[in-house]
Amino acid sequence: MEILGDIQDLIGVETLTEDDLEEAERQALANAQNPVFSVEEQAVWKNQLVRYAELRRRLADGTFGLCDVCHRPISCARLRAYPFATTCVDCPPTE
Ligand SMILES: [Zn+2]
Repeated sequence: MEILGDIQDLIGVETLTEDDLEEAERQALANAQNPVFSVEEQAVWKNQLVRYAELRRRLADGTFGLCDVCHRPISCARLRAYPFATTCVDCPPTE
């Protein structure tokens, strides 16, 4: 899936593949349940899992990289800084 190349910075690998995404999700799930981490840290990983799920949904339905509000493409720079962005810089966040 070519779009994965655009979000490779998400988990800091050179080439992001479907397997990498699955591995990142597995790792986030493991961390979310790992008692080594504080409750706050586990909450961060759980939140990350929700974001991965949302990212998958957006990749699947073709809305990844599009603003939820104005439906224009979100700039690459913004996506690079924050791959989970669902709105462009001009629109207020929907969350
Ligand atoms: Zn917008």
